[in-house]
Amino acid sequence: MTDTPEAGISKRRDAILAELASAASPPPVLVAVSKTQTDAALAAMLATGQRVFGENRVQEAQAHWTARRETIPDLELHLIGPLQSNKAEDAVRLFDMIQTLDRPKLAAALAAAIAKTGRRPRLLVQVNTGEEPQKAGVTPRDLPALLDQARRHPGLEIEGLMCIPPVGEPAGPHFALLAKLARAHGLATLSMGMSGDYALAARFGATHVRVGTALFGERA
Ligand SMILES: *Cc1c(COP(=O)(O)O)cnc(C)c1O
Repeated sequence: MTDTPEAGISKRRDAILAELASAASPPPVLVAVSKTQTDAALAAMLATGQRVFGENRVQEAQAHWTARRETIPDLELHLIGPLQSNKAEDAVRLFDMIQTLDRPKLAAALAAAIAKTGRRPRLLVQVNTGEEPQKAGVTPRDLPALLDQARRHPGLEIEGLMCIPPVGEPAGPHFALLAKLARAHGLATLSMGMSGDYALAARFGATHVRVGTALFGERA
């Protein structure tokens, strides 16, 4: 007998939660990455009790979640993709955590949006630990200056760091570097680890792991 998609999602989620619990105590928060998923997949994931979701794009996130927000008050939405300054206000209105602050101009735009809307999403700085030219994120070298600059905006409080290690490299050294940078700056929140390495990230001290395909199955 084959599983229904709902049963498959629920089983995969239970298995991942169990792995996270055996990797770290307390285990990291599981952020279900729902980019490109169908409405049926979102409904199936919500039916498991999952409430924390990650999205890459503001517009897609609005389409997925704006209406559901009305009926699911404990929904928690994380922005995990790059953010343009001109979308900062939309992002502040929708998300509970923005994980991808990576430049002074965006810090200024977020500070303005927070002042205007009165909403205060939690904020992480994305660090380009592999120093890949095409990848978003501040370099480890430029992180102190960005944190300094962000602190000068009233109402902008950075609570942690996020990274996406280079594809094809062992992730461990990148997780270790991110944890070390967070400690050096007194930051408590660490978003790292995806489908292939969430248990490893948990052992390196992740407080949030971002998991898409291992939870939902291959993206549509
Ligand atoms: C898509 C995405 C993920 C999830 O990736 P999977 O490999 O499907 O788990 C995590 N983090 C970011 C920033 C992403 O864009």
